[in-house]
Amino acid sequence: MAIVSSNAGAASPRREPVLDAQPSPEESSGRPDDGLRPKRLDDYIGQAELKQVLGIAVQAALGRGEALDHVLLYGPPGLGKTTMALVLAEELGVTCRITSAPALERPRDIVGLLVNVQPRDLLFIDEIHRLNRVAEELLYPAMEDRRLDLTVGKGSTARTRSLELPPFTLVGATTKAGSLSSPLRDRFGLIQRLEFYGQEDLEAIVSRTADLLKVSLSAAACRRIAGCCRGTPRIANRLLRRVRDVACVQGRQDQIDEGLVTQALSLHRVDHRGLDAGDRRLLAQLDQHHGGGPVGLDTLAAALGEDPTTLESVVEPFLLQQGLLVRTPRGRMLTDAARDHLREQEAA
Ligand code: ADP
Repeated sequence: MAIVSSNAGAASPRREPVLDAQPSPEESSGRPDDGLRPKRLDDYIGQAELKQVLGIAVQAALGRGEALDHVLLYGPPGLGKTTMALVLAEELGVTCRITSAPALERPRDIVGLLVNVQPRDLLFIDEIHRLNRVAEELLYPAMEDRRLDLTVGKGSTARTRSLELPPFTLVGATTKAGSLSSPLRDRFGLIQRLEFYGQEDLEAIVSRTADLLKVSLSAAACRRIAGCCRGTPRIANRLLRRVRDVACVQGRQDQIDEGLVTQALSLHRVDHRGLDAGDRRLLAQLDQHHGGGPVGLDTLAAALGEDPTTLESVVEPFLLQQGLLVRTPRGRMLTDAARDHLREQEAA
């Protein structure tokens, strides 16, 4: 399978580097295959429902000799959307062209992408909710009728030309399915959500990555990394790399135990629940200065010196998912589990 990649110009807020589910610059640009991505559906760990639905669709498309229907994958960053697009291309035996919406700013960017598409190719557009209006309108007929409508010339000499496109599959990925316009959403035949991974799947991912990186982890060390990675394979792989750094310096790459993992994680201020200093700061702020809430997002953001959007989209989701924070109509509130966690951390 060939992979063609073009610049992914993401511009989202970032958090502590080691726990940032967004790809780092090296992870995102120019290296769609980091050597750790599973290549086939059978190697793709977890997401059973997604694999089942897409597996059937791939088999059916192969059986009919047709292009796979357009697929929209949505869910938080780092859960395997790009990986799934590459897996689909591999299963279909076609080329995957990777790009992201911010790289398709000018109409000629998307026209260039579409005119070069080969029969049954897979076109992956990351952050598809950020496509501009012109690009979206060029995509509609391309997705629905395999037609590219171009305007040639200017002013009174302008004419519309239609170009027929080969059958192709668009795989769109987004962290914000709600921001997608409904005409665009309606043109996807398969819309699938990726879920955070459970402990067992994460342990399998960490163990697989350890094999690929040629490091030897004890079962407890593997469990520990899996428990701290916020349900996200990208973070699991990154934590393992940081643990490997410490092991490397200590000459212990072939015997990584839980103690070494704890050492490496505390170096990066990651606690056993996968919370970093920023998370704990938010919880402590609510606890110590607002009696546990409720407190409005803007007030909380101002008190922490953060931007409310960063807080809402980067810091809060994991705390909400972990039941450490609740959003109420009157503002954010701390839960008993969060209080217990803070006490535990203070005592440690
Ligand atoms: P997204 O596109 O959702 O941000 P990616 O597909 O880039 O996430 O995945 C991030 C990393 O996590 C990849 O490098 C890959 O190695 C790993 N990964 C993701 N999903 C899985 C999975 N199901 N099994 C094993 N590794 C995975």
